[in-house]
Amino acid sequence: MTTKGKQLYAGKAKSVYETEHPGQMIMLFRNDTSAFDGERVEQLARKGMVNNKFNAFIMQKLEQGGVPTHFIRLLSDQESLVKRLDMIPIECVVRNIAAGSICRRLGITEGLALNPPTFEFFMKNDALHDPMINDSHIRAFGWASEAEVARMRELTFKVNMLLKKMFLDAGLLLVDYKLEFGRYQGQVVLGDEFSPDGCRLWDAQTRKKLDKDRFRQNLGGVIEGYEEVARRIGMEI
Ligand code: UDP
Repeated sequence: MTTKGKQLYAGKAKSVYETEHPGQMIMLFRNDTSAFDGERVEQLARKGMVNNKFNAFIMQKLEQGGVPTHFIRLLSDQESLVKRLDMIPIECVVRNIAAGSICRRLGITEGLALNPPTFEFFMKNDALHDPMINDSHIRAFGWASEAEVARMRELTFKVNMLLKKMFLDAGLLLVDYKLEFGRYQGQVVLGDEFSPDGCRLWDAQTRKKLDKDRFRQNLGGVIEGYEEVARRIGMEI
């Protein structure tokens, strides 16, 4: 039995609740969709359900591939039971193809293949617009140890190896993605979520965007894009 207790935290798209087990919590995927560090927020029907199921599917794939994750099990259409991590306030981004902030920052054209893929750390702070940081900031401010930094990088690249292939087999390019990690019983564990809200996925033939850029760029058909990805990777939603 899992009962939903007090709300612990509400983020831009998810809320988390206590359970009777101190090491576990319930993650509720809401329909809220935000962009530009929370400056624009809209409700998109079905998004909570699609992202919850998408995340469950990916987290299970990653576990099978040897990446420790916080995911325990699905509880309902919009809720999952997860391990309660001590989150590290850092975003890890790997890019296989240039898009988004790297194009703005370095003046490069969207679509450029990045080989080998790039790895970046960002500080998780909307008020500061998630500034880019490096290992030395993480060490100097005591956000994570050297071993934890190395493990986050290792696991983030392992995710690339596992998911790039899975998506390509479904006719999709994994352009980039953001991961967040936390500590659980002394181990670095993947937390937060993996969904089209936090990665970029393009059709491999046409390069049609099927991720949150449809929302950011007002392209329409946002959830239809997410559902197309889900169908192609063999999910039932
Ligand atoms: N991303 C995210 N949350 C953030 C920032 C980025 O999930 O706060 C994801 C984003 O969806 C993309 C990748 O991380 O898949 C790289 O994002 P980028 O640095 O290009 O920033 P953006 O263009 O989204 O501002």
